[in-house]
Amino acid sequence: MSDLINSSLRELSAALATRQVSAVELATLFLDRIEKLNPSLNAFVTTDRAKTLAQARTADEKIVGAGGSAISPLCGIPVAHKDIFCTQGWRTSCGSKMLTNFVSPYDAHVVEKLAAAGMVTLGKLNMDEFAMGSSNETSYFGPVKNPWNVSCVPGGSSGGSAAAIAARLTPAATGTDTGGSIRQPAALCGLSGLKPTYGVVSRYGMIAFASSLDQAGPMAKSASDCALLLNAMAGFDTRDSTSLQRPVEDYGRDLEKPLAGLRIGLPQEFFGAGMDADVRAAVDAALAEYRRLGATTLEVRLTNSGLSVPAYYVIAPAEASSNLSRFDGVRYGYRAPEYADLAEMYSRSRAQGFGAEVKRRILIGTYVLSHGYYDAYYLQAQKIRRLIAADFQAAFQQCDVIMGPTSPSVAFAFGAKSADPVQMYLSDIYTISTNLAGLPGMSLPCGFGANNMPVGLQIIGNWFDEARMLNVAHKYQQVTDWHTRMPETLK
Ligand code: GLN
Repeated sequence: MSDLINSSLRELSAALATRQVSAVELATLFLDRIEKLNPSLNAFVTTDRAKTLAQARTADEKIVGAGGSAISPLCGIPVAHKDIFCTQGWRTSCGSKMLTNFVSPYDAHVVEKLAAAGMVTLGKLNMDEFAMGSSNETSYFGPVKNPWNVSCVPGGSSGGSAAAIAARLTPAATGTDTGGSIRQPAALCGLSGLKPTYGVVSRYGMIAFASSLDQAGPMAKSASDCALLLNAMAGFDTRDSTSLQRPVEDYGRDLEKPLAGLRIGLPQEFFGAGMDADVRAAVDAALAEYRRLGATTLEVRLTNSGLSVPAYYVIAPAEASSNLSRFDGVRYGYRAPEYADLAEMYSRSRAQGFGAEVKRRILIGTYVLSHGYYDAYYLQAQKIRRLIAADFQAAFQQCDVIMGPTSPSVAFAFGAKSADPVQMYLSDIYTISTNLAGLPGMSLPCGFGANNMPVGLQIIGNWFDEARMLNVAHKYQQVTDWHTRMPETLK
């Protein structure tokens, strides 16, 4: 029973179908681990055993009712959701005091789709407040600890998702990635995580941070697990005007394709100063492995990628300042207990309900959109965004996928960057440009660096190339075992 915590989703599916384990037993196994380990990790912010077990019983009925005939391969498998996804009947806090008592009247599209596939919700996962951060230190509910070393950050903003999988508190989780928030925590916690092409997964019911960048995606132990999850998450949704109407895909269709002839582009800009030596060593070793698998590597240029962090920190705050104006103490969320008039009710509710990083972003965003500065900042950033996207298109003329590090360093200690926002923002230097270009990106574990902390390899594909990226990741995972490792102390 206990080895089920390390099983792949396919193995869990088989164990459920052959009734070696029931969905209720599986959910109980993980709920018990959460009860035991979460107090020291703080990955989950909400659990509800009765609700989870009720969903598990329904899944068991479906599996028994199907009598061995095909049902969704995810039926009966537990999942946990980043607390940015609205979940009917469960609190949805987005890591903020603003929403500590908010219970959504509906499910996000992603939540709905995974539930329709029969997945069983274990609970809601901690995150940086409104997904703003790279270390999970901005959460109103306190920081999440990295299961590999509890004095280090798990990355962010989907740090709760990453820590929960790394500690085997759940076999799978949802995350969102606006500038790196799926890939960077996946890297820092030794997991596989994929940010799809913008528009592939509906943003309906996902609390908006920067709408033109936000994208939901799967986080799990392996690429093949991510493929199964993405199959269930993706799809057209009329409730999100940026959702793309495309034929339904099996993202796992190419998993086993040999890599002979694959052209891997290595951007000079991703391999310069700024990347720690231990990260570089692990990434270089992974590239050597890819060459052994038959791939070739070549140098490509992403000339404008150095401008991605500054452009992002204009565009994302601009969109956030608009999106977060809905939290005004009137419609939902926190309202200040005392105020003299309406204006003071707004300002006090927002002053008390938002944390420092969220306020910083609202101020920056309002500033760059204001008269006189709009042209100088916002419009310039949009132009740079276009140049960054064009660089990628030129690179993809020469190569099939791009590779590099996910994060410039392994997980850092709490407090190491929280006093200096710019240092923190640089954590996403290798991930942000894909969001600006709307491209899919993925991180997979490729070794260990300083203090035995995990290192992530990033794969970037062209638009809609998720199946190929998953293939590229899966073939590597067949010849390496980094993705199977878990922290010794939590076994
Ligand atoms: N770390 C980046 C930020 O703070 C990205 C966050 C994200 O992807 N949600 O904005």
